[in-house]
Formats: sequence, C-alpha cells, structure tokens
Amino acid sequence: MNKRFFIGGAWPYANNSLHVGHLAALLPGDVLARFGRLCGYDVIYVSGTDSHGTPITERAKREKVTPASIAEQYHAEFTRDFEAMGFTYDKYTATFTDYHKAGVQDILRKIQANGYLYETTEEQDYCETCGKFVSDREIEGNCPVCGKLTRGDQCEHCNASFDSKMMTEKRCRTCGNATTTRMNKHLMFALSKFQKDIEEFTEKMAPHWRLNAVNETKKYLQQGLPDRAATRDLDWGVEVPVEGYESKRIYVWFEAVLGYMTTGKWVAEQRGIDFNEYMTEDGNLNNYYIHGKDNIPFHTVIFPALLMAMDRSLCLPTHIVSSEYVNMNDEKMSKSKGNLISVHELAENYPMDAVRFYTMLYNPERRDVNFSIPDLISTYNKFLAGGLGNFVNRNLSFLKKKFGGVVPAGKVDPAVAAHVEGLYASMGEKMENGDLRSATEDMVTLIQYANKYYDDQKPWVQAKAEELTDFGNTTATCIYLMANMANLFAPVIPEGCEKLAKVLNIEQLSWNPVTLPETFTLGEVPILYTRIDEPKN
Ligand SMILES: [Zn+2]
Ligand SMILES: [Zn+2]
Repeated sequence: MNKRFFIGGAWPYANNSLHVGHLAALLPGDVLARFGRLCGYDVIYVSGTDSHGTPITERAKREKVTPASIAEQYHAEFTRDFEAMGFTYDKYTATFTDYHKAGVQDILRKIQANGYLYETTEEQDYCETCGKFVSDREIEGNCPVCGKLTRGDQCEHCNASFDSKMMTEKRCRTCGNATTTRMNKHLMFALSKFQKDIEEFTEKMAPHWRLNAVNETKKYLQQGLPDRAATRDLDWGVEVPVEGYESKRIYVWFEAVLGYMTTGKWVAEQRGIDFNEYMTEDGNLNNYYIHGKDNIPFHTVIFPALLMAMDRSLCLPTHIVSSEYVNMNDEKMSKSKGNLISVHELAENYPMDAVRFYTMLYNPERRDVNFSIPDLISTYNKFLAGGLGNFVNRNLSFLKKKFGGVVPAGKVDPAVAAHVEGLYASMGEKMENGDLRSATEDMVTLIQYANKYYDDQKPWVQAKAEELTDFGNTTATCIYLMANMANLFAPVIPEGCEKLAKVLNIEQLSWNPVTLPETFTLGEVPILYTRIDEPKN
C-alpha cells in the first residue's frame, strides 16, 4: 500500500485576523503536504475556520449582527490569506458547513453508542427574563473571596477561581435582572476513562514528539482527566442529535477538533476512497497535526480520546508539529501593543516565497523566535534574490547571450551528483520527521555550495577555450544543480521553483534526482527574485 500523509492544520478561530504567529505555526503543514505530494504519497491536508462558540456570539450581540455574518467574514479573510501564502489544503472549510455538522452528529451518535457519553443533571443559573440558562461569561455577581463585583468563574480583582454557584447577588449580564437556578441536563464525554490509554500513548510517542508536546501533555495528564460537558446552552453551533437537547449545541472543544475527521472524509469521498480505511493504523500512515503550543492538549489528549471513543482501529496522531511563539521586534506580540503584523499585510507587500522562506528558516520549532521586517528583507535579499537568483541568472543569462539559449553537451560532475542524491535522503528524512527548519537550512547550504562550484570552475573563462568540454561539463553540472534545487526547494519556495522548472523544461517536479537531456534549448529566462530595498535605520 502507498504511504499516506494525513495533515491536519489547526483551525483558526473566526474572531481575529491571521498574523505572523498563525503563519509560523501553520506553514509547516503546507511544507509537509507539498513534500508528501512530491514523493507521490497519498496526501490529505485539511483545515478550516472554527466558527462557533461564545466569543463570536457575544461579539455579534455587541455589534448587532448575526454570528453567521462574523464567521463568514473571517472565513473569507482566512481563505484569501492562506491562498496568498500558497497554502495547498485539499480542503479548507468551516465548521458552519452542513457536511461538518452532519459528520460531527454522526460521530457523537457513535461515541454515545459506544458508551462514552452520559447525561448529567445539575442546578444551573437561569435568567427568567431572557428565558435561558446563563453561562459563566453571561453572569456577574460578588466574588466569594473578596466580595467585589465581578463576572464569570474568575475574579478580575483578586484572581480567585470559583464555581459561579458561590457568587452572591448574581445578575444576568444581558438584561441586568437577578438570576435564579433551575435543573439543567447535559451530555458528558467520559474523558476520565481514557486517562490510562492516553498516558500509555504519550509514553509511546514521547521519543517522536517535540519536547513541548511531551511536556504539555504530561502536565495536563498529571491533573487527572475530568469528564467534560459535550453540550451547552447556546443557539449558535452544531445541533445535538438527541431528543430533549433542541435548545442546546455541541461544545466547540468537541466539534471543532473533529473537523479533521469530517473534512478528511469529505476529501476521501471526492477521491472515491474509504476514509476509515485511509485512517486505519497499518504502519503506512503518518498522521500529522500542525499547531501552536497553546493547542497541544487538544491534539495529544482530547482528539486521541475522541478517536478511541469512536473506533479503536483509527490511527492516533503520530507527529505533533507544535510550535513555540513568535515575538515581534523582541517584544511579545499582542493586539493591545499594536505590534501584530497580519498575514494580509505581508502578502500585500512581500513576495510569497520571501515570507515562506523566512518563516521556515526561522521557524519557532524549539524556542520562541523574533520576527522583524528588516530581517525578512535581508534574509530574502541574501539567500533568494542574491544566492539562488544570482546562481540561476549568472548561468542562464550567459547561455542566452553567448549560446542563444542552447545548453551545450556536457557531463554532470559525479561528486556533485552524489552530494545532491544524498540530500534527497537526508532532507527527506528531516521533512518527514517535521524537522522543517533544519531542512530549510539545508537549502541555504546547497545555494552556497552551488555558487561556490560556479566560482571555482569559472565557466566564463572556460567558455573562451578552444575546446568547450570543460565549459560544457560545468554548465551541465550547474543545470543539474538548478533542476534538483527546483525539486528540493519546492515545498518551501514553490513560486521560484515553478519558474525554474519552466525555463528548464521540467514538466513535473518530484522528490527524485533529475538529470536533464544532454542538450536542450532554454525557455524564457525569468527573473526569479527581485531585490527589495532594505529600510534605512
Ligand atoms: Zn475577588
Ligand atoms: Zn437576562
């Protein structure tokens, strides 16, 4: 059976624009997807907009619009931004789609049939005026510790955490009237039943996961896994397919993370393959989850527990690609500091490859990294416009000018060929393991290697000799380097690689060493990358 890559990119929440932090956390997913396809694997790469939950309903209330209009607006924005950055999701969807809802409902029924959902009844705050149960966020009252007026389950004055039952003089924040209590029922997911399974799973995966994933998961497990409510009182979300739950919706933590399964299934159906079979653990599936550090337990604890509750034969996450944070100009990024750079702003001002290359070369894989525009520009100028662009341009423009674009016959230097062949194996292994930053550093090394080869051979001198054998060999070797760079670099800088493929008449890039015909005519020589003026300090 062919090797398979299932890649789940984290679902951005429809409440804020995408910024460089999102990009740094999510771009590794696209690099992996492109790499997997170059290898000829069966790749399913999915993500979507997380569009339910109270932050959106509260904002909708404030702005006097519908939650759907907010979700749709951000969904359109996210779709535009991902496209501008060259993301190649097989499906980028949203949790408000009908097939996601139907898929989640199916899974909920399955989990219920397997005995991992049960009903609880408990007393809950109720507003008679609004005619509904009020959540922690929708209630205010006096803090049981300091007595000051606060909202929710945590005091904004003394920071104490408590159950809203312990507050006094409680009022509904929507209408201002005093609340009462009523008996309310919910469906609970028996997460506690998976404590031991998840502990064993974590032990087994620890050698393969990033350290932050192992540490965050262990911290989470140490607190003991509590059962979690899978339903809540809200009217914006996925309907609960159980009688008596008409006024409730499925909790976002339960349904959004299942988007990997509902969307993966959608893609599989389009391709006419059986998704359950595709996701079955058989040793040929790499199951990747791409997200920031704050999302780790959802992918290492909650999602695997849901998968086990559905069907024990499903493959659990094999690779957790969990990033640390991005700082901006040596400061923590935040909306209040106003130092967020949006993905849209980057897409409008800089070449896609420049942003992708910089983001991957300095990806926050193991520690926080610093992002700055001057760094982005100088990295791009140095390695892409300078290093790679220059190597291509020096060779090809010379051939155009002196030889009418006809590549002379020559032999590829066997030492160079051996070096390049080795890179397919070593960079490939890094890619597959999610060590993408190191694989990107290998790109830099190869660019420098190629330029050094050119400088050492001095083809501009060789071209003046009576016999053009040396020039032909040097040129063949440089063309060979270029053709293979187009393959090896395509996951990170696809635009430049497409241009290279075109001028070299390569029909299809792939993760295999390529040797071009002995002599052929070049296509139009492109300007691979144009330098950007560096800002003066
Ligand atoms: Zn307090
Ligand atoms: Zn009320």
